[in-house]
Amino acid sequence: MITGKTKLLGVIGYPVEHSLSPLMHNAAIQAINNQKNQQNLIDFVYLPFPIKPEDLNTAIAGFSAIGVQGFNITIPHKQAIIPLLSEVSDIAQAVGAVNTVYRTNKGWAGTNTDVTGFLAPLQTYNWDSHQKVAVILGNGGAARAVVAGCAQLGFAEIHVVGRSIEKLAAFEQSWVNSPLPVNIKIHNWDDLPSLIAQADLLVNTTPVGMYPNIQESPVDEAIFERLSPGAIAYDLIYIPNPTKFLQQAQVRGAIAIDGLEMLVQQGAAALELWLQQSVPVDVMRNSLRKHLGLI
Ligand code: NAP
Repeated sequence: MITGKTKLLGVIGYPVEHSLSPLMHNAAIQAINNQKNQQNLIDFVYLPFPIKPEDLNTAIAGFSAIGVQGFNITIPHKQAIIPLLSEVSDIAQAVGAVNTVYRTNKGWAGTNTDVTGFLAPLQTYNWDSHQKVAVILGNGGAARAVVAGCAQLGFAEIHVVGRSIEKLAAFEQSWVNSPLPVNIKIHNWDDLPSLIAQADLLVNTTPVGMYPNIQESPVDEAIFERLSPGAIAYDLIYIPNPTKFLQQAQVRGAIAIDGLEMLVQQGAAALELWLQQSVPVDVMRNSLRKHLGLI
């Protein structure tokens, strides 16, 4: 219920209509209130805000003026927001992108919950990553959160596979002064057959296989046959579910992790930050699974 005291949360992006965040955040807010008595209700609503790049400064000044409590950030504002913040967490600095902003006495503070989101499903497996090899396909924005997450877990080796040597070199260089100790090796796709055989964790951060191109996979069938059956294959894509990449992994006997849990967990970490209380992750997950026709 919207009241005279309702506080605003939201997501900024352009476009933003496709965002599933309003659905899962409002489901969580409603579920929290369903468990509380009338005196302790939390009075928040989470809205999508389509903001053109040229309107970002005005919009954020407006958010300050109207008392927005916090917001998520999606493409194309994840880097552009940084100069508008009074504080940026170490993890967001390491990733080079902010996906969550909250209010402080000094102004807006930014952090990045994609790393927490990426790590959450991996942490349910009890293995020592210090002995392990991670192979990451793609070197775009999401790959940055994945590299930071793998570095936090202390992987023995982190290999990044890309199609442009220039972009790969820039990606490698961008970690040199990072607050996180990140040591990666970069490769073109020709190296994948030998890399995949060593991979304990294989992560797809490319959009290959994303709806509507659901028959595509970033890895050829013959190359997939080299993946160890004990490995974890992790696809950041969440539509379709599972992707062709994850189906190939499952045929190999590997453990498959889809991108939905990362989406849920990055959202849950942001909502906890804004509300300063634990949030019903299962409600957030189920709201998305229902929306996507998975349950
Ligand atoms: P991005 O910044 O555009 O990066 C995409 C990367 O994939 C780039 O390195 C790009 O290579 C590479 N790539 C694109 N098409 C390719 C192809 N046909 N073959 C080989 N490589 C290709 O995108 P992003 O923001 O990182 O997002 C990537 C994927 O992750 C999307 O599917 C997105 O939905 C998903 N994602 C999921 C979550 C989640 O919460 N589950 C969060 C973030 C992103 P070049 O640099 O050479 O172009």
